[in-house]
Amino acid sequence: MRCWSEKDILEGTVVDAYVIILRTRGCAWALSSGCTMCGYFNDSILSDVSDEDLSAQFENAMRNYKGEKIVKLFTSGSFLDPSEIPVPIQKKILATLNNTAEKISVESRPEYITEKSLRAIQENVQLKKFEVGIGLETSNDLVREKAINKGFTFQDYKKAAALLKKQKVGVKTYMLLKPPFLTEKESLNDCIKTAKDTAPYTDLLSLNPTNVQHHTVVEYLWKRNQYRPPWLWSIVEFLRQSKSLTKAFVKCDVVGGGSNRGAHNCGICDKKVLHAIEEFSLTQNNDVFRALSCDCQEQWRDQLDLESLSFGSLVDFARWNP
Ligand code: SF4
Ligand SMILES: [Zn+2]
Repeated sequence: MRCWSEKDILEGTVVDAYVIILRTRGCAWALSSGCTMCGYFNDSILSDVSDEDLSAQFENAMRNYKGEKIVKLFTSGSFLDPSEIPVPIQKKILATLNNTAEKISVESRPEYITEKSLRAIQENVQLKKFEVGIGLETSNDLVREKAINKGFTFQDYKKAAALLKKQKVGVKTYMLLKPPFLTEKESLNDCIKTAKDTAPYTDLLSLNPTNVQHHTVVEYLWKRNQYRPPWLWSIVEFLRQSKSLTKAFVKCDVVGGGSNRGAHNCGICDKKVLHAIEEFSLTQNNDVFRALSCDCQEQWRDQLDLESLSFGSLVDFARWNP
């Protein structure tokens, strides 16, 4: 179990958010197949976790809880999957948090978002503000199936999102920048299209730049010099355009930003670009990007132009350190 406090937005105001990551048996999809970029299974227990253990993890996490207004509860899988967290435990956790938190956020694959599952958790408790995040990654079924191996369709996402809306539950959509097998430009265009396609369904759009996690297909390619995580400039480009694509609140959390395994630029400008991305994610203000520039922007532009002429994604020779 891990927990920490961070900043987030609640109705336009920056507030403290408490993040809890419970260790469960893991994502059912990861246990039977798994997504090409996801190494969450490295943190999962991979065998059944007792109700007592899950309750004890939650109680431990609550010892450090200081009344943060938002609580984000993650499981490295699906909170609504009863094989990860049995329904009585889901209910107990949500009822406890609802006493103090103003907003509770969880994540789930669409197949667990059903009338029945949503009704069950809200049976005895009127949740104040509840949000479910779905890892759609892209609105393109071909990319999701072949490059990500996600195991569900855009239609499945739309159905789940509509159901959440009907039940007055907030929808958060995660999209992936730079899945394996796509060039930088293809992926940037894919994200732009996904932002437009998800606009009618989502309240919050979270851009996840791929980072190289252990024991994944992405790591296999990266180690063979066949994959480079996205440029921070691609993130900036997407965020800059995002307000004209969707009415949703748009944010980006760059895990491992600036490192060889995470989204990065040349190494000189990374810190200030990451800071601007963080600022935008709280303020939605495009001005934070205005003063940004670096010589490596040219290299990034070259990559966008030239990559389509090469056989796949160009690698990062400048920072390559096998
Ligand atoms: S990305 Fe989500 S659905 Fe895919 S394996 Fe990881 S936790 Fe499961
Ligand atoms: Zn630079």
